[in-house]
Amino acid sequence: NLTQRLAKVVKTMRGEARLTEANTAEMLREVRLALLEADVALPAVREFIAKVKEKALGEEVIGSLSPGQALVGVVQKELGALMGADLGPDASQLSFAQQPPAVILMAGLQGVGKTTTTGKLAKYLKEEKKKKVLTVSADVYRPAAIAQLESVTKQVGADFFPSTASDKPVDIAKNAIDWAKKHYHDVVIIDTAGRLAIDEAMMQEIAAVHAAANPIETLFVVDAMVGQDAINTAKAFNDALPLTGVILTKLDGDSRGGAALSVRHVTGKPIKFAGVSEKLDGLEAFDPARMANRVLGMGDILALVEEARKGVDMKAAADMANKIKSGGKFDMNDFRAQLAQMKKMGGMAGLLDKLPAQFQQAASGANMDQAEKQVRRMCGIIDSMTPLERAKPELIKANRKRRIAAGAGVQVQEVNRMLTQYEQMNTMMKKLKGGGLMKMMRGMKG
Ligand code: GDP
Ligand code: MG
Repeated sequence: NLTQRLAKVVKTMRGEARLTEANTAEMLREVRLALLEADVALPAVREFIAKVKEKALGEEVIGSLSPGQALVGVVQKELGALMGADLGPDASQLSFAQQPPAVILMAGLQGVGKTTTTGKLAKYLKEEKKKKVLTVSADVYRPAAIAQLESVTKQVGADFFPSTASDKPVDIAKNAIDWAKKHYHDVVIIDTAGRLAIDEAMMQEIAAVHAAANPIETLFVVDAMVGQDAINTAKAFNDALPLTGVILTKLDGDSRGGAALSVRHVTGKPIKFAGVSEKLDGLEAFDPARMANRVLGMGDILALVEEARKGVDMKAAADMANKIKSGGKFDMNDFRAQLAQMKKMGGMAGLLDKLPAQFQQAASGANMDQAEKQVRRMCGIIDSMTPLERAKPELIKANRKRRIAAGAGVQVQEVNRMLTQYEQMNTMMKKLKGGGLMKMMRGMKG
């Protein structure tokens, strides 16, 4: 697992002041492997590693960071840039012609999600951009394809231009655009046929449709699950058509999304949207930084780098994680240690921010703000407990509570509240078991 491998390398070679060929070599090997594991095509991996090397060499290693940790920062920044972070927030916007209708042409292999995405786009343009949208299918090879587009179009309440299997794709496109002009549509989305593999006839056909329709957006739709092959498909479509953008579908699957990098490498075009569900509301603006983290599985590693910056005692955190993981009891001593860690880490909420999204949800039930504010007082309360009470908090009944409260200079209610917090923390720890935090902490041990 990348996180664990990187974590090991990241810790080495403390005390060097600059990134050099020598002290980054091992890390770069791991990054390279990680990208290949994420199914990024080799030429894209090579280009990326070369770029990181160039940027990293001579870079200063600040504070308590090791060269490995500093390099992780460079890797993340460069990957984000390659995903399109440098293109700016407008990169995911669609262009609309000054003279309507704006024509959008959907291109890509069969089964990647063109028809579904046409429906999603129609919905997005209608609801978010207040556009009058017409869809049309130039997929004359499978009669079911036309019916499928009609169905998704009706579902989102956009207009559908009927076509039949005996029509020519070029005529279908022209007729739909004429119709749209007469009926004041702002946007026409042309869905096209895709073959299972790239073939010359298909490329010629879509090029002809492109020439006839003169689209302002030509979007290459690619399935995030296809892996390495994305590079060949992207190349074929990029050669045949002047693409203006990419839509990456099926990101709700378990692929790491290496295809994003391959496609960016070949086309240089912005990835504008991500498909995240089969449903018609499953379309999101593409987020380069998030994608970069996903491809590298970097959420954990970045948190690690951040925490290292702040000088957290990782050994203590890892011991605690292991104790909880192995089913050991989480007692007041652990709670006290956890509270101390939280102070150093800038709070539990701050730490969770850095972890991957799917994991953050697991902890969303806990009231972390409140927990943070009380940390200092809570530490005081725990400090006035006896060792036995700390090991067995369930012993703390009325008498003991009064004594503890007096010792800490607080009200008994506050001791009660602290015990509740402890219970909450306990519950949260159980929830976190097996999640990203544990992974991160395990990765940092050793
Ligand atoms: P086309 O051949 O390119 O037109 O592809 P379709 O739009 O017919 O989609 C093929 C399959 O992929 C269908 O089962 C869709 O429901 C599914 N699909 C499309 N986009 C997504 C997505 O973003 N996520 C998931 N999970 N499935 C998708
Ligand atoms: Mg289709």
